[in-house]
Amino acid sequence: MRSVSIFGATGSIGESAFDLLMGSGGPAAWRTVALTGGRNVARLAEMARALNAELAVIADARLLPDLRAALAGTGTEVAAGDAAVAEAADRPADWSLSAIIGAAGLAPSLAVARRGGVLALANKESLVAAGPLLMETARVNGATILPVDSEHSAVFQCLAGGNLDSVEMVTLTASGGAFRDWPLERLAQATVAEASAHPNWAMGQRITIDSASMFNKALEVIEAREFFGLPSDRIAVLVHPESIVHALVAHVDGGVIAHLGAPDMRHAIGHALNWPARAPLPVARLDLAALGRLTFRAPCETRWPALALARQVIASGGAAGAVLNAAKEQALDDFIAGRIRFTDMAPAVAHALDRAAGQAGFARSPDSLEAVLSWDAAARRDAAAWGRAA
Ligand code: NAD
Ligand code: MG
Repeated sequence: MRSVSIFGATGSIGESAFDLLMGSGGPAAWRTVALTGGRNVARLAEMARALNAELAVIADARLLPDLRAALAGTGTEVAAGDAAVAEAADRPADWSLSAIIGAAGLAPSLAVARRGGVLALANKESLVAAGPLLMETARVNGATILPVDSEHSAVFQCLAGGNLDSVEMVTLTASGGAFRDWPLERLAQATVAEASAHPNWAMGQRITIDSASMFNKALEVIEAREFFGLPSDRIAVLVHPESIVHALVAHVDGGVIAHLGAPDMRHAIGHALNWPARAPLPVARLDLAALGRLTFRAPCETRWPALALARQVIASGGAAGAVLNAAKEQALDDFIAGRIRFTDMAPAVAHALDRAAGQAGFARSPDSLEAVLSWDAAARRDAAAWGRAA
């Protein structure tokens, strides 16, 4: 029986993974080592009961008594707090899904990479903030990292185990998010509710707003750079409003391999769960005749300044990824809280990058979780300060 752990089980990705586990035998087929959630005790307890989990961890330490009560009488051990989340990741499991949102996902990602096994990585922030550290930790300890982000899973599938030597260009597609067709001058007035409405994918609120700003794609360009080791000029972004083609891999001989599928994260999660095999998944089948046509356009850098910031970060290297990621999270918090406008997010991030670039050690890639978190904290302060001045 294979053993699994899910970090961020109560989120959008976590729910999809839970659905796949329940739909493929549930507790009779899977040994669930650990499930973690942020604050939703009721849902975490429900999932732990359904999968007969050995351990359930709630990240908000104040909620430990609630979790204990909700799981009383079951065999599930309970724990709470950030350290308990990271410790849960130390427990051996064959397959671990890193699906916490934001920089908080880095500690469990690193812990899984340290103990070996398969790390199914939805938390792209881990690679953005600490790509070299995470990849090296996995390499040294023999861990396998499998991409769960749909575009990166698509590239991985297009490569089909082949190497990158003949690859000329990897293209990540982007739906364009909620404001793809808005007049540019309206963007400054965009509300949180408007930014939270994704045309194609049902995702958590934060990544949905990041899709509207293209910060999600900016993170993904950096993620592709770290995961596949490609230079920035061999990673392209293409706006594809239908979200059917997830990525394209172009080879030096002019051949292009594309990955197509319905926009449903259960495909990418399920691919990583079954890898290297393929197994039936409960995702809608494509009907290209019904779709009729697929469209593509180049991304507009005026509409989406986040894309240029990603290129800047790759060119800088060092701590730039950790800074961009944290500043983006702060700017997003500030936008959601109504402190800054939608169009203020990119300048706030650019400001934090400028400030960090003047600091000693910026050119060095952070070599520990503590180093990443120290850049992270400073970047949040800088982005917040920009927001207050705006
Ligand atoms: P979400 O907000 O729906 O869920 C996040 C999960 O993390 C929840 O379980 C939440 O309780 C937990 N969490 C939040 N803050 C936490 C903290 N400080 N400590 C511990 N746990 C915490 O997010 P999501 O949309 O499922 O995204 C999860 C990850 O997957 C992100 O890194 C995102 O970029 C990536 N991803 C998501 C999608 C998608 O379709 N939703 C697609 C590709 C990649
Ligand atoms: Mg993606």
